[in-house]
Amino acid sequence: MCTLLHGVTVTGSRLPQRGRLIEQCAVPELPEVEIVRRELSPVMTGARIERVELRRGDLRAPFPRRFRARLEGRTVAGLERRAKYLLAELSSGETLVMHLGMSGSFRIARGLAGEPGRHDHVVFHLSSGVAVIFNDPRRFGVMDLLRPGGLAAHRALGSLGPEPLSAEFDGYVLARACAGRKTSLKVALLDQRVVSGLGNIYASEALHLAGLSPRRRASTIATPSGAPRDAAHRLAAAITQVLKEAIARASGATYRSSRFRVYDREGARCRRRGCPGTIRRRTQAGRSTFYCAVCQH
Ligand SMILES: [Zn+2]
Repeated sequence: MCTLLHGVTVTGSRLPQRGRLIEQCAVPELPEVEIVRRELSPVMTGARIERVELRRGDLRAPFPRRFRARLEGRTVAGLERRAKYLLAELSSGETLVMHLGMSGSFRIARGLAGEPGRHDHVVFHLSSGVAVIFNDPRRFGVMDLLRPGGLAAHRALGSLGPEPLSAEFDGYVLARACAGRKTSLKVALLDQRVVSGLGNIYASEALHLAGLSPRRRASTIATPSGAPRDAAHRLAAAITQVLKEAIARASGATYRSSRFRVYDREGARCRRRGCPGTIRRRTQAGRSTFYCAVCQH
């Protein structure tokens, strides 16, 4: 297991220490990003960005043109999440797009922040006296600025499917997205046009909870006309549930790898009550899928 630091660490003398270490062996998935949003939102929303420090010229890509000038003096109207992107709406009408990449994390510092850390690449100094610091050792993170109305035309954001934690996401939406798809259900769930932000871990988890085989054809959860079968309702509910449970768990004190139903549990007993199965692993589209062949059909 590797240990990476994601999420938000809060430092500074006037704030309680709320930092936490999130252990995982992959890129941050939707629940981790949602937790970051919930920590950052009360700090950033309503605050003016007084000064931006850029400690280098790029992350995964160069910072956008006039990045600092377009941010400084603007107020953050709100902080939303779309898939694994954080979107800060600015008073200028532009949107600051942030992605943690593989190793990105935010730190909130009040008062004396001390010396910058080795991989502290971006610092937002807010009118409240708080500094929001982006740290990213591997620099796969993203900081971008979109012009008003630029979201729909964005290469990654524009084509995203339904947000699994939104009120609009249900069996009908999922069935429509899977209808006619000849790929396996697992591979379909990783397609961001089918459902946005669902990564490898929670796709396996949701399929196990719903009792659906990752190998079955995606189209089998819908009728030929795209109406949901029972499996579509079960799967949509399972996706929402595994994501909500992951957020609740990671918001709490413990966050351990043993929390998973199937992920990274090859050879272990199936956790479904009464199921005698053993968790297996197979590779689908280059990614590991974990499942129980006994109770997932
Ligand atoms: Zn089982």
